Amino acid sequence: FVQADIMSGENEPMDEKESRKAAAQTEHEHILEERKKLPIYPYRQELLDAIEQYQVLVIVGETGSGKTTQIPQYLHEAGYTERGKIGCTQPRRVAAMSVAARVAQEMNVKLGHEVGYSIRFEDCTSEKTKLKYMTDGMLLREFLGEPDLKSYSVMIVDEAHERTVSTDVLFGLMKDITRFRQDLKVLISSATLDAEKFSKYFDDAPIFTIPGRRYPVDMMFTKAPEADYLDAAVVTVLQIHITQPPGGDILVFLTGQEEIEAAEEILKQRTRGLGSRIAELIICPIYANLPSDLQAKIFEPTPPGARKVVLATNIAETSLTIDGIKYVVDPGFCKQKSFNPRTGMESLIVAPISKAAAMQRAGRAGRTSPGKCFRLYTQWSFNNEMEDNTVPEIQRTNLGNIVLMLKSLGINDLMNFDFMDPPPAETLMRALEQLYALGSLNDRGELTKLGRRMAEFPLDPMLSKMIVASDKFKCSEEIISIAAMLSVGNAIFYRPKDKQVHADTARMNFHSGNVGDHIALMRVYDSWKETNYSSNWCYENYIQVRSMKRARDIRDQLQSLLERVEIELTSNANDLEAIKKTVTAGFFYHTAQIQKNGSYKTVKNPQVVHIHPSSGLSQVLPRWVVYNELVLTTKEYMRNVIEVKKDWLVEIAPHYYKKQDVEDVGAGKMPRGKGRAASTA
Ligand code: ADP
Ligand code: MG
Repeated sequence: FVQADIMSGENEPMDEKESRKAAAQTEHEHILEERKKLPIYPYRQELLDAIEQYQVLVIVGETGSGKTTQIPQYLHEAGYTERGKIGCTQPRRVAAMSVAARVAQEMNVKLGHEVGYSIRFEDCTSEKTKLKYMTDGMLLREFLGEPDLKSYSVMIVDEAHERTVSTDVLFGLMKDITRFRQDLKVLISSATLDAEKFSKYFDDAPIFTIPGRRYPVDMMFTKAPEADYLDAAVVTVLQIHITQPPGGDILVFLTGQEEIEAAEEILKQRTRGLGSRIAELIICPIYANLPSDLQAKIFEPTPPGARKVVLATNIAETSLTIDGIKYVVDPGFCKQKSFNPRTGMESLIVAPISKAAAMQRAGRAGRTSPGKCFRLYTQWSFNNEMEDNTVPEIQRTNLGNIVLMLKSLGINDLMNFDFMDPPPAETLMRALEQLYALGSLNDRGELTKLGRRMAEFPLDPMLSKMIVASDKFKCSEEIISIAAMLSVGNAIFYRPKDKQVHADTARMNFHSGNVGDHIALMRVYDSWKETNYSSNWCYENYIQVRSMKRARDIRDQLQSLLERVEIELTSNANDLEAIKKTVTAGFFYHTAQIQKNGSYKTVKNPQVVHIHPSSGLSQVLPRWVVYNELVLTTKEYMRNVIEVKKDWLVEIAPHYYKKQDVEDVGAGKMPRGKGRAASTA
């Protein structure tokens, strides 16, 4: 066998090559046919005329009508790309990637060439790129380098109804920019009918409505509330699969990756138990961190005789449309951020969805034929317990990096910024106060030189401050590894149910010497690097390969940003004190002191907190710690902590801590944590 020849196709007989070309061509023709069937297609010219006529246009059309994939192509075909790029923002990373891939396919070009996407820590565009899909957060960052967006001829703020913080801030910036860039077209596109609000905000911009085609959807409610909605969802899926006629896929809305993986596991077990007595059930998960090759799987047509079940987060509510869905299973929950500006506690809690979201979810069942929606909550609860609309994110999140960003754009008077729905004054005050404490704003509220350097990093201000501080402590190599690992989130270690003891032992190896979680994360990264980024090493140590690869990508990006702010890459791996001091320089705002009963109290805005059980220090209980974040799960927990010396606080943040702020509690009565005894033994 000369496999290479067969693979390359160079020595292929002419007719085979031709026939393959022909097949590809018919496939592309098929795609073009599909484009013409979308609800938006008959309105193509009318839409282009309206865009020609008005500078700002609000576009409303049901999910799946073709707004995201078609409008940029129409504009390209009409010649808008001759004057500049067409940008299209998406609130979600996955949506930006997936939609760009689809449009590249429709245009028969390579992804990253004419059609590309840009998401945090990943830029898949090139000089050639004309249609650029990006997260709303990335467009915000682009404003830093190009405040008038002059390389764009059209900007589409898509999925406007999602009302993410970044989208809300973009509204204000876009509104401002239209005043001095008369030639820039701005489209605000939304899937819901609250377009009036957008129109009013944009000085009564006209609304272009794309009439949807909708088939009736039967609504089913449960008679009594479900105690375990995950189990109820799985049971409902199996019931649909077994009792409903073949054809018609199922879409289940769950709250996150963990739940989706659990549901996938249970479904696999139960269908295996039923063996060949039932038709094949193809299980497709979709959530933000799913690798892109697996993401593509949800769009593959279901083979005849089989049924597909898509287990999705609310990304499938409006951002992604999967054809062929006939049944929707809606437990009625989603993960929601909430923020307490007084305590600085940010939490991600599973909360009931709004009526508007429930309607969107149900609508997914009736796109191509009549469908059914199984709601795992009661009619009463829908009527009486669910809010009409979801509260915009800007009113329930920490605004630290948004404020830093706006300040670096020269927007000083945030209290009077033209927000569609303003954030609570307390949240803004807290953000300003924190940026001042970090030294990024001066006492007149203006950006300092330090603040300007910090704003270069697409990170929370405390992380950015930590990175900038690494210059002084000569440990930038170590600190960017730590920042990258922290940015990956809590997906580094895994703990299979049947091997928990092994997994815990492996994990504790990195913690030897009770060095704290940041240093442990650094050790994980360095050890992986030493094995030449070996996947096997990850398996042996119960570490998620995928998360490590992501950390490496993020680290690469941070490294190139270091150059931008002129910080030298220096290593100081053996000086753990220097590294901990650098962490403290970023996170001194997050200091907690142990109490007599073994719990902790945060130093400023005192409140009782605990070290998270996953921390290497959870049994050690040092006197003083700084933590990466506070999370509210079963208790108020500090996640990722290191031990600090109280003197460091006064040394590193003298404007923030005075000696009397950091007195020890009665030394003789200190609790003795189990681990403390062990560590001194
Ligand atoms: P809207 O933005 O109005 O919700 P879209 O432009 O996202 O609509 O979707 C239009 C059509 O394109 C839908 O039928 C959808 O199924 C299809 N589509 C979108 N992304 C993909 C993809 N990655 N693969 C296959 N089809 C896709
Ligand atoms: Mg869309």
